Amino acid sequence: MSTPAVDLLSDTLTRPTEGMRAAMASAVVGDDVFGEDPTVRELEQRVAGLLGHEDGLFTPTGSMANQLGIRLHVKPGEELVADSLAHVLRAEMGAAAVLSGISSRSWVGPHGLLDAAQPLALMIPDGGAYQVNTRLVVVENTHNFGGGTVQPLEQIEALRSGTRERGVALHLDGARLWNAHVATGVALETYGRLFDTVSVCLSKGLGAPVGSVLVGSAEQMAEARIWRKRFGGGMRQVGILAAAGLWALDHHVERLADDHARARRFAEAAAEAAPGSIDPTRVETNIVILDVSVAGWTSADFVAAAAERGVRLYAVSGTAVRLVWHLDVDDAGTDLAVTELVPLLAKGPQ
Ligand SMILES: *Cc1c(COP(=O)(O)O)cnc(C)c1O
Repeated sequence: MSTPAVDLLSDTLTRPTEGMRAAMASAVVGDDVFGEDPTVRELEQRVAGLLGHEDGLFTPTGSMANQLGIRLHVKPGEELVADSLAHVLRAEMGAAAVLSGISSRSWVGPHGLLDAAQPLALMIPDGGAYQVNTRLVVVENTHNFGGGTVQPLEQIEALRSGTRERGVALHLDGARLWNAHVATGVALETYGRLFDTVSVCLSKGLGAPVGSVLVGSAEQMAEARIWRKRFGGGMRQVGILAAAGLWALDHHVERLADDHARARRFAEAAAEAAPGSIDPTRVETNIVILDVSVAGWTSADFVAAAAERGVRLYAVSGTAVRLVWHLDVDDAGTDLAVTELVPLLAKGPQ
């Protein structure tokens, strides 16, 4: 395929800006496996502070940060529970089972939206010697395959008290927690303190080329550091990557509001032209999941037709496509997406 004019495939596509590249080039570095990279330590401590935790650990990917967090709470033969669309269940290639011998079960939430009663009813922390023991609930905020869904704070609070009562840990897959924070104004720390461990991504809408951070207690992070090395994630002079993350925290958090406004604008146009394809009030952040079947499209055909018009999208199911706004899509790109895709969506395949 030729280079798309507007690339809405994912917010992982962002390329480091000039300023970010300059910050990377001038970063002070050391060997991080020996704990001697000051820029990595600065990033780890800064993210931990933002989320109200003691310490952090820099990882190459969000999947590794999640898998380290999961590993801390669940032993082989025990289980985690998460919603059926969760990234940890759908998009980490079975890592919890393969790497850690952990089994999992799920509940079904509309658009990934958390209703605390569902995980609380599902978990079995006292399975004894007959039923698999639940040790962890994973919550995703915002919810990726759910369509950028922001989790209601009161539901997280209810889940926190219900899990604490029964001795079950809580991990937040906060790959896009920045988006939830910007969309709601709820402090990162308010979200962070409700969980035992939190993972966040720097490589999505924040625009860094690589990197995630796991946060928790100092003791947990010391253990996660060992497992990170065991998983092959011990890196050396990665202050150059941590510097990109620090730059992103300084420059790319508040601007996520622009991505949210553009996604909402597209969703409103789509809803007007093709009612039923999307409820624009559900578009709270940078992700739009469009039901293209309302006008008779399959997602594969719609993705192909969009590509011919210079817009790249992702098919999330047989009937739905995902559009993600990010640092490299501006107002003009959004206009183009509206003019090219909305009539196509409304008209249906010919
Ligand atoms: C992107 C993402 C991750 C991490 O993905 P990596 O590609 O491993 O960095 C984790 N959780 C969610 C919800 C994501 O969208």
